[in-house]
Amino acid sequence: MSRVYLTRPLPDRVLARARDLFDEVEVREETAPLKIGQMRAALALYDGVLPTLGDMFSAEVFLDTENPRCKVLANFGVGYNHIDVRAARAAGVMVTNTPGAVTDATADIAMTLILMSARRAGEGERLVRAGKWEGWHPTQMLGMHVSGKTVGIIGMGRIGQAIAQRCHMGFGMDVVYYNRSEKELAFPATRADSLQSLAEQADIVVVAVPGGAETHHMIGADLFAAMKPTAHFVNIARGDVVNEVALIAALQVGRIAGAGLDVYEHEPEVPNALRSMENVTLLPHLGTAALEVREAMGMMAVDNLYAALHGETPPNLVN
Ligand code: NAP
Repeated sequence: MSRVYLTRPLPDRVLARARDLFDEVEVREETAPLKIGQMRAALALYDGVLPTLGDMFSAEVFLDTENPRCKVLANFGVGYNHIDVRAARAAGVMVTNTPGAVTDATADIAMTLILMSARRAGEGERLVRAGKWEGWHPTQMLGMHVSGKTVGIIGMGRIGQAIAQRCHMGFGMDVVYYNRSEKELAFPATRADSLQSLAEQADIVVVAVPGGAETHHMIGADLFAAMKPTAHFVNIARGDVVNEVALIAALQVGRIAGAGLDVYEHEPEVPNALRSMENVTLLPHLGTAALEVREAMGMMAVDNLYAALHGETPPNLVN
């Protein structure tokens, strides 16, 4: 008898597959993150849980949870910095994620933000909607031409590489990157030995490292100070990788030309200072928001649940 808990509504195909595979599938209909008591109850009552972004399975949740019924947290998403993997492991709970399924869609959102920021698309759209557009003229709303520029990618993993490939193959950009380890890449790219050096070279800086303790506030005032004043900053990774106060300060004094953000430090709260600047493009964490992608993520998470509950090593175990 297998009993699983899905902490959010998921696409129909994913629900159908879960119902095929498990004896009992409970779907929580709310879309807000779980509260601590709900997470503890989930660990006690189900064999497997499929959580997602916002469900903060911190060490505190696992405190006093000896031998929980739950054997696996099959996270819906590649980023799992909301789960304390070490505490889960100590409580005998496996953690899995959904790498790969999200790569192209998230890289596409990075491209959307690069283009929107550089070409002032959000500002232009607001102008037209406000009925304030007075017609085309040769010096109207001039942005930055992206073709042939240099993109600096921070975190050259799956998503970083997909962004770099799009920038290089599609827009003829040179690629500079900063990464923890050396990478074998299928396209020309130069590894920067510091964030400072990357910032000095790039016309567009894109953040693609995972969130978590190691990368918390990895990007701050120093990086913005080293960027060209004409450069744009894009974050599709996790909000807390960037010191948002420092980003706002850099934008407010014109230290950098613009920013495109999909993620925020205190999501879903977006500071008024960001919302009020015309040169900032703001998306509501749309990286993987396409039906096929959410289906693929769900299928992966369900496969991980199934393997874990059948005595196999889940394909995407992270601990
Ligand atoms: P990945 O393949 O694991 O790539 C992460 C890269 O970051 C790796 O190359 C890693 O280096 C590098 N890295 C990690 N810590 C570092 C550090 N301290 N300094 C320098 N480089 C570091 O992950 P991915 O699939 O590309 O996903 C990246 C992140 O994107 C996810 O963790 C998630 O948070 C975020 N994401 C956001 C959305 C969205 O909706 N906006 C969607 C999907 C994913 P090594 O090569 O040395 O391991």
